Amino acid sequence: MWIDTHCHIDAAEFGDASLSVAAQAAAAGVSTIVAMAIERANFDTVASLAARAPNVTYALGIHPICIPQARDEDLDALRAQVEAAMSDPNFVGIGEIGLDFFIPLLCEPDMRAKQERFLREQLRIARDFALPVFLHVRRSQDQVLKHLRQIRAPSGIAHAFNGSFQQAQNFVDLGFHLGFGGAMTFTRALQIRRLATELPLSSIVLETDSPDIAPSWIHPGRNTPEQLPAIGAALAELRGIGVDAVRDAVHANTLAAIPRLAAASRTLDK
Ligand SMILES: [Zn+2]
Ligand SMILES: [Zn+2]
Repeated sequence: MWIDTHCHIDAAEFGDASLSVAAQAAAAGVSTIVAMAIERANFDTVASLAARAPNVTYALGIHPICIPQARDEDLDALRAQVEAAMSDPNFVGIGEIGLDFFIPLLCEPDMRAKQERFLREQLRIARDFALPVFLHVRRSQDQVLKHLRQIRAPSGIAHAFNGSFQQAQNFVDLGFHLGFGGAMTFTRALQIRRLATELPLSSIVLETDSPDIAPSWIHPGRNTPEQLPAIGAALAELRGIGVDAVRDAVHANTLAAIPRLAAASRTLDK
């Protein structure tokens, strides 16, 4: 079965349809969706969606785009909520966290520093609870790598990966996986397609990042986790191998990257 390792199923674009979006994905063969938190205000939202949808799990974290409004006490709240969530089988890791050096506001010196401070504390939480991290890495590959080397989260995913082969290798050397999704379905995305084709299959996991990054066949429409199997088929075509081989390999990679998914027996028999 397919696993969507990165999704924003509580996004405003889905309105109150999040549960039916999850159910449609399940019907399409997506056995598990990992819903990202982006700020303290949606920690409970993703947790309660996971409690109500049989194929939804969740991560908790503070996203770079939410850093301007975030307060230091949100990090304390995150640590406390993570500690409590360790007994929740739907809870699988820390995310979405990272660095975004593309959005101008986030590139101002004080905001860069705040992003890095929040990333470092969230990496410490991941390390302290032995949890994987779901990383947003935008124009910040080497900076994120620097922090990962200093604060070693046990595993994780650099999502919507778009870097060089060397940077990809550096993440893999640290025990991380690389997330690929709708971007590789565009013929003009030469570098991402080359990475998806030539990187070892063992380093790759799949994601939709829905409602964003719609694949070519529905662009510019709203993306949904239901698209994950077709994205997997696109990866199989790029690599010139069978869809089943991609599905089984990526499934194993995903369980290695997100160990609590393997421990949650409910995801194994789907
Ligand atoms: Zn992201
Ligand atoms: Zn995201």
